Amino acid sequence: MKTVKTVDEVRAQVREWRKQGLSVGLVPTMGYLHEGHASLIKASVKDNDRTVVSVFVNPMQFGPTEDLESYPRDINRDAALAEDCGADIIFNPEPSEMYHKGFSSFVDMTVLTQELCGLSRPVHFRGVCTVVTKLFNIVKPDRAYFGKKDAQQLAIIKHMVDDLNMDLTIVGCPLIREEDGLAKSSRNTYLSADERKAALVLSRSLELGKEMIRNGEKSCAAVIAAMKELIEKEPLAKIDYVKIVDCDTMQQIEELDRPALAAMAVYIGKTRLIDNFFTEDI
Ligand code: AMP
Repeated sequence: MKTVKTVDEVRAQVREWRKQGLSVGLVPTMGYLHEGHASLIKASVKDNDRTVVSVFVNPMQFGPTEDLESYPRDINRDAALAEDCGADIIFNPEPSEMYHKGFSSFVDMTVLTQELCGLSRPVHFRGVCTVVTKLFNIVKPDRAYFGKKDAQQLAIIKHMVDDLNMDLTIVGCPLIREEDGLAKSSRNTYLSADERKAALVLSRSLELGKEMIRNGEKSCAAVIAAMKELIEKEPLAKIDYVKIVDCDTMQQIEELDRPALAAMAVYIGKTRLIDNFFTEDI
């Protein structure tokens, strides 16, 4: 398996594959790969003849006070994991390769992006949509794989592909957790031992919400209140948001009368973690 740094190299490789009539899957990541990413790569390897994994910590999707500098990076470890999963190539560009001097074109979505994470991360989804569009234009995949861990991102990418007639299929993959329930994330490496324990309040509160819904609770306010109460008992946790939204619009709903997404962002110490469930998966 090759690791390439330039747009020209990855394009030349994909062109070769296309000449042979092979299908191509793309798994966009920011690296420091874990089993969540591995599940996406394996899904792509299963569905496509060839799989490209991009590893790029995209500066454009980080706010000025966020963790761009400290975001964990280890391309050798990523390459080994991607190869084990059956990937064919890693595209690992430098920021200067993706954003030439004078770069000034952006993909800005006016719906879906201002809710949930968009409220506390105002530039985030513009950066995500722009880099994902660039990756789609560079690789021209038949399919691209995104995790339900980032449920809002998945909804936004699907919407963007539809709006802009991008010629590929977006595949959403299940959220992968640690054995004790914590959603796998590259940012979990920031957690101290005490914070790692405290971080379990996210998945525990989601379990509580699921249980209430399974038992017939229809009021979103009641479910959210119970989840928040549980989180607030953890001294190291500080809630950014806990919301239940319509899966299509990302707008808050009052009654659980349609497919919904329960989503949260919670600071554990300085680390902002996200987690969620879709009501149709419970
Ligand atoms: P990231 O490297 O965090 O930007 O994530 C790259 C892709 O992997 C995104 O589509 C994420 O939704 C997905 N991903 C990250 N963590 C998980 C997880 N725990 N389960 C499933 N997919 C994940």
